[in-house]
Amino acid sequence: MTYILHRQIHGELPVAVGGRGVELFDTNGKAYIDASGGAAVSCLGHNHPDVVEAMKRQAEKLAYAHTSFFTSEPAEALAERLVKAAPKGISHTYFVSGGSEAVEAALKMARQYFVEMGEPQRRHIIARRQSYHGNTLGALSAGGNEWRRDQFRPLLIETHHIDPCYAYRHQRPDENAEAYGLRAAQQLEDKILELGPDTVIAFVAEPVVGATAGAVPPVSGYFKRIREICDRYGVLLILDEVMCGMGRTGTLFACEQDGIAPDLVAIAKGLGGGYQPIGAVLLARRIYDAFANGSGFFQHGHTYMGHPMACAAALAVQEVIERDDLLANVREMGAHLRARLQARFGNHPHVGDIRGRGLFMGLELVADRGTKEPFDPALKLHAKVKKEAMARGLMVYPMGGTIDGRRGNHVLLAPPFIVDKPTVDTIVERLGDAIDAAI
Ligand code: PLP
Repeated sequence: MTYILHRQIHGELPVAVGGRGVELFDTNGKAYIDASGGAAVSCLGHNHPDVVEAMKRQAEKLAYAHTSFFTSEPAEALAERLVKAAPKGISHTYFVSGGSEAVEAALKMARQYFVEMGEPQRRHIIARRQSYHGNTLGALSAGGNEWRRDQFRPLLIETHHIDPCYAYRHQRPDENAEAYGLRAAQQLEDKILELGPDTVIAFVAEPVVGATAGAVPPVSGYFKRIREICDRYGVLLILDEVMCGMGRTGTLFACEQDGIAPDLVAIAKGLGGGYQPIGAVLLARRIYDAFANGSGFFQHGHTYMGHPMACAAALAVQEVIERDDLLANVREMGAHLRARLQARFGNHPHVGDIRGRGLFMGLELVADRGTKEPFDPALKLHAKVKKEAMARGLMVYPMGGTIDGRRGNHVLLAPPFIVDKPTVDTIVERLGDAIDAAI
């Protein structure tokens, strides 16, 4: 008996009652290795004593103060930390409660920027197919996952989509990675010219595509070219680092590895590590200045933005990551995870691609390795993999994404940054058994 409308109405969910480090426990005392951090959220694992202590201290001082009346100490401290660590040009932070809200706010900020600048005719958003930016209507409009969008299409705002940078599927045998990256980026320029350069607000992209494609990193040079194209036409670059940001790829921001800085960047999951719901938009100085010298306010706002408890938890999470040099562990364990995945699945008949960055890795499952033909969606392979993994005490994030309009399958791995080698080995062993049992 349940009074909750769960994500899946049919079937039973175990009841989570505890967690410690990389593990979660259910009411039967069964332990699950959290190899996906839920949905790439739990970057510090569970029940970290320093974060719990920081939350207790904040709860005893002040749980909530509405942001139209007050700012708060943890919010100011967290914003300062984020801006100081952010890519070049970022000057301010706008807090929200999660990833969809962050993308939604970034889209509105980008539009208002052009209104403030006297260019109200700019109205188009360009994004990519096979991307996920959240489930609220604006963010869903930007996203390219057809399965998620389909029935809501009449409610969505008009958004234009180009192909993602997806080497496994789209790089031609006769071109190298660099040439492919330039060809993929050219689609943006073509789309801007087609729409009219002075009508485009922004281009939105996940640096490493998460839930919809399974940890697909760009080829080298792709984002540099994207940045150049945006600059050429005065189009803002919004990066969605909700899933791939905050250290998950081995650097605090994934885009650092592409050598570019965005105008707006959305962050969430790893920011609070699941200890509290929190997200943020980091914005460039010129956007802040346009608001400051123009209307004097950003026409947006949520009741829980800058929530002191959420900011205190996120501040503690970020302090622990820095103090314990956990990004070094992300890089080291990421390399180990990649090597173990290669060893186990490198010749697997149904694993077409192994890719990712840092502790953000994906496997693409295919019916035929030679032709890259996806499995029949009716098989619901991703659901079977998840079930088999859970039966073996393993949490992974298998999804049925969209491949060129068809449904495909991938498995996403995003273990906590504190993971060690023996645990990585166990994750790969259990995942191999689960995939073989599911197929
Ligand atoms: N953007 C990306 C890249 C995501 O992966 C997600 C969630 O998976 C979101 C946005 C939406 O975040 P939330 O579920 O916190 O609203």
